[in-house]
Parts: sequence; C-alpha cells; structure tokens
Amino acid sequence: MFQFKILKQSKKSKARIGEIKTPHGKIITPAFIPVATLGVIKGGLDFRDLELTKTQCQIVNTFHFLDLNRAEEVKKFGGLHKFFKFQKPIFTDSGGFQIFSLGKGAELGLGKIGSIFPENNIQKKKEGGKLVKRITQKGILFRSPRDGREIYLTPELSAQTQIKLGADFIYLLDICGSPLDDLKTAKKEMELSHWWFERFLRIKIPPTQQVFGIIQGGIYKELRKTSTQFVNNLPVFGIAIGGALGKSKNDMYKTISFVNRYIDWQRPHHLLGIGDLEVLEKIIKLGIDLFDCALPTRIARHGTALTFKGYFNILKNQYKSNFEPIEKDCKCFTCQNYSIAQLNFLFKAKEQLAGRLLTIHNLYFLETQLEKIREKIEMGKL
Ligand SMILES: [Zn+2]
Repeated sequence: MFQFKILKQSKKSKARIGEIKTPHGKIITPAFIPVATLGVIKGGLDFRDLELTKTQCQIVNTFHFLDLNRAEEVKKFGGLHKFFKFQKPIFTDSGGFQIFSLGKGAELGLGKIGSIFPENNIQKKKEGGKLVKRITQKGILFRSPRDGREIYLTPELSAQTQIKLGADFIYLLDICGSPLDDLKTAKKEMELSHWWFERFLRIKIPPTQQVFGIIQGGIYKELRKTSTQFVNNLPVFGIAIGGALGKSKNDMYKTISFVNRYIDWQRPHHLLGIGDLEVLEKIIKLGIDLFDCALPTRIARHGTALTFKGYFNILKNQYKSNFEPIEKDCKCFTCQNYSIAQLNFLFKAKEQLAGRLLTIHNLYFLETQLEKIREKIEMGKL
C-alpha cells in the first residue's frame, strides 16, 4: 500500500528524485507540503482551487483539532480526505510543534531558524510560554489558545487523534525545542521525546497509515547523532528532521549535513517547518525529500507574491496601474486571468478574493520551481 522508491540519485549532491506511493496516490519528491491548518489551506481555497495549483499533498495540524475537539466528527465522517474532499495524500503533525510555537517561540519571539526571525533579533527573555503550562514525563499540559481550557497532550492522545483524523502519514509526538536551548535542556527534551516515541508506537496503527519519526537534538552534534541512530532503529516509514535548527540558515545547513552522516537513506527525509523559496535548492541538495511551511500561503494572504526575483509586495501604490500579470511566464489561474493592478485593487478593497488568488499563484509558482529542480536532478545538473 505504501512504498518509497528512489528514482534518480544525483551524482553531484545528495539530491534525489523519489516516489512515495500511498492509498491516495503518489507523491513525486522533492515535494512541498502546504500547511492546511484545520484541513483547508487558509485563504479560502477549496479542493477545486487546489487542483489549479499542482499541490501534491497537504499537512494538517492535530493540535488544532484537539483544541476544537472535532477529531471524533472527522472520524465519523470517514477521515480528513472525505471531510475536506481532498483525495491526495495528507500528513498530520503530532502537536509537538505547538510546544514551541505556543511556548518558548511565542514567549521569546523566535522562529525555528534565523531566516524567520534573524539572529540579531534573538534576545534572551524569560523562558516558557503562557500557553504551555507544564511538560512532564507523561505529556504536555497546554492552555487552549481559543478558550483557555486545559488540553493534556500525551503521545497516546496524539496517536489516537491522528488515527481518528486518518491521514496517510502521521508523526510521533516530540518536543520541539528552542534555538536558545542549552545542551542540558536539549538533552532532556531529546530523551523525553524518545520515551514518547516508544509509547506512541505501542498504539496499534492501522495499515492505511504510516509513521514518520523525528530526529531531535537541536544544534548539538552529539545529541543529533544519538537521536538519528535512535530514530533509524524505529519501525517508521519516514524520517523527519525536527526541533530547533540553530540561529541562522547556515546553522540549519550544518545540522542537516551532520545528520546526513547517520540518517537512513532508504527512507524519505522530511525537513519540518521549512519551505522558504530561497533555501529550496540548497536543502534539496542536502537530500531533503519533503518540506512543509506556512510561509508561501501566509505571505500570499498579506499581499506578497513569490516571483523569479524573490518576494514581490503587490500592495505598493505604484502598482495600481500595472496591468501585467505577476509573472509573464507563470501559467497559473491568477496570472492567466488577473493583473497586478487588479490584485492591488482587491487587496486595498479588502476583498477575500485577493488572498485566494495570490495563494493560488504562490502555491503554483512554488510547484513550478520544484519541477525545474526535479528536472535539473534528472539531467544530472544539481
Ligand atoms: Zn502565477
């Protein structure tokens, strides 16, 4: 039912083209996984819009289903694919990222790496976010960002919830640490994650779902080595590189390169939470097969387009009479039908259509960039 095959291995780098077979079709890697927080990609896109974007798959956040207490209804309806009419492969994360994003990340104003919040902005403040009340051996006690009630997330609850949601790929519950964690803290978080992995895997997972393990260890080499070897030995389909990736993109590349010495190359590799256009080629050269990121869709809703020249802010007044498409060579629905001036108008008028059209462009554009990268690998040029 599930299979990962390497179709082409670059001789010049660790880049490779692969094929992941699932009950909901194939994913050709390297592949981008757009974030569909609550089952849909924000920006008002329905399943027909997604067909316009070449999107191969999507990742849904388990924590938010726990927060809304709706996993049971999704299960009754037949799982995420039926509930949201998305018939391609779906991933669900475990809730571990929210330990960071609602905890230290929110408290310290940090991202997973410096590219989101540059290193010179990193200032050590009082640690510990208000929405993460306690991390114990048993699990994490959250305060709901929606209504303040307590949510006690354990590896068992993460597994059971992800089974209810019924995604093709589910993730072990880990503790996503902060780039400012010292060695002692990072070690504690890694060891606890490993213990949670074992507990998660004691839950019976249906054959229609496969698991990704997550390498922890922050920026510390000895921890990354231990964690990589630990995850290699787990009965998991794929391997994700998780946790804090350092204070800059360079730290991130170093971390991946180091992990690469030990990681099992027969399984697909997922770099969690990173999918910036600027780093795409570099991380693919380091052997990353899958990556997810909310950035391309988030910036679209705020008026920024992805282009060959980088980020393009459509909101500037000078564009109100620019009747060219965002990219002349882009074949997306938006570029084929709308000009920059029209998009600029729709954003200024606060029409919801604006965010939807730009999200379609950004997703499509990213997919075409990936196609080019896959072509380069195919021709032995990457
Ligand atoms: Zn376009």
